[in-house]
Amino acid sequence: MFEYAPAPESRSVVELDSSYGLFIDGAFEAAKDGATFKTVNPATEEVLAEVATAGPEDVDRAVAAARHAYGAWSALPGAERAKYLFRIARIIQERSRELAVLESLDNGKPIKESRDVDLPLVAAHFFYYAGWADKLPYAGFGPDPKPIGVAAQVIPWNFPLLMLAWKVAPALATGNTVVLKPAETTPLSALFFADVCRQAELPPGVVNIVTGAGDTGAYLVAHPDVDKVAFTGSTEVGREIARTVAGTGKRLTLELGGKAANIVFDDAPLDQAVEGIVNGIFFNQGHVCCAGSRLLVQENIAEELLASLKRRMDTLRVGDPLDKNTDIGAINSAAQLARITELSEIGAAEGAERWSPACQLPERGFWFAPTIFTGVTQAHRIAREEIFGPVLSVLTFRTPAEAVEKANNTPYGLSAGIWSEKGSRILAVADKLRAGVVWANTFNKFDPASPFGGYKESGYGREGGRHGLEAYLA
Ligand code: NAD
Ligand code: MG
Repeated sequence: MFEYAPAPESRSVVELDSSYGLFIDGAFEAAKDGATFKTVNPATEEVLAEVATAGPEDVDRAVAAARHAYGAWSALPGAERAKYLFRIARIIQERSRELAVLESLDNGKPIKESRDVDLPLVAAHFFYYAGWADKLPYAGFGPDPKPIGVAAQVIPWNFPLLMLAWKVAPALATGNTVVLKPAETTPLSALFFADVCRQAELPPGVVNIVTGAGDTGAYLVAHPDVDKVAFTGSTEVGREIARTVAGTGKRLTLELGGKAANIVFDDAPLDQAVEGIVNGIFFNQGHVCCAGSRLLVQENIAEELLASLKRRMDTLRVGDPLDKNTDIGAINSAAQLARITELSEIGAAEGAERWSPACQLPERGFWFAPTIFTGVTQAHRIAREEIFGPVLSVLTFRTPAEAVEKANNTPYGLSAGIWSEKGSRILAVADKLRAGVVWANTFNKFDPASPFGGYKESGYGREGGRHGLEAYLA
């Protein structure tokens, strides 16, 4: 085994203020009642900053600012809106090192992911939708498609800036204005994005950022002057939002959880499959709605595949998110760590066999070693519930029909993976999977041109691609 010297990215590329206000009508301001919360670095538990908690009056002001800005923004020719979006995309590229370090600090994800995956995709989403802004009459939604109005957008903590980009870029390209609420454990990159909007001279009120927890989000989505709600997060909160919005005439898209099957057939290139399994479940600490959290492996190769998977897991480096060699960073919060720990204990208690490589976890912060469970059956809770952590449940199958049946035996339907040498088998199996995205001989690949979204309890509506425009057009 090689030893690696520490290779930390410099923290000094980010200048943090001790406190941040709400971004309303182009300016930062404190909450009306002065309430704040703290956001921490989950790798050290160090407080990074105090952030304003938006109450009802603050949300009212943000929605009013978005409403006021809507008239002029929606009336701009698409080519003019595109200029702002291109400008935002370029500024994100210019500031990508700073934003990547910030994202790793507030979220805990490894710098090599925030630097090489999150930030390039964030810029790509703005470039992509900038390109659509002046071509909407040719997008297949009629000759003169119209925006919806004011969009309320609530996002989770697993890809803070990327989920912001998925929401904000198509909304602005189509002429809507937005009020966005980032997650309470990862508010900082959205506030830096507010600064990017100012730098791009985006008209005040087109983008407003209100920080806070679930109460702020609940108030925002229930606001009577909101025309469209877009949510990414847990199925539980998604249900609650669907109830709130029902009968109001508001448009709604929901991107919820998943329990994806990653299916490995006996003719698959095994080394490549092992890389795909590792990427599928350990990328971003497994805090990924489309994570390949159920490995379905053909029985006759299970032993060989699991042996190589364990060898590969032995080489994963868990630790300081800012170290460029780190593969697995910190779990985003104490609450999420508790949930992962609880479900893993249930897995062992229900009789599955638990294995993790030997790895030393830092003393402070929130950490969980990469873990696999073998001998898992479909009745086990770890085979049914979203763990949202670096925990893989392994099941076996004998025939393609059995693989399909097990893969679809879930209340979710967001993504799936197929590993096989035969194109015909890949197409035949993909056709039968009830999942919004099916990857073949790869996993967790994203592109702004490709629509993303689920079936069943994974939600409805599509984000990304031409399809993603539809959610923001009347
Ligand atoms: P959550 O659904 O509670 O939070 C997501 C966002 O919704 C946050 O911004 C939160 O403040 C906001 N929110 C919470 N309650 C709300 C309400 N009543 N009305 C409006 N907004 C509200 O998710 P969580 O508690 O952070 O995570 C719990 C579980 O959800 C995870 O273990 C995981 O299984 C799942 N999850 C899925 C995704 C995903 O990408 N699909 C993302 C995060 C979490
Ligand atoms: Mg944080």
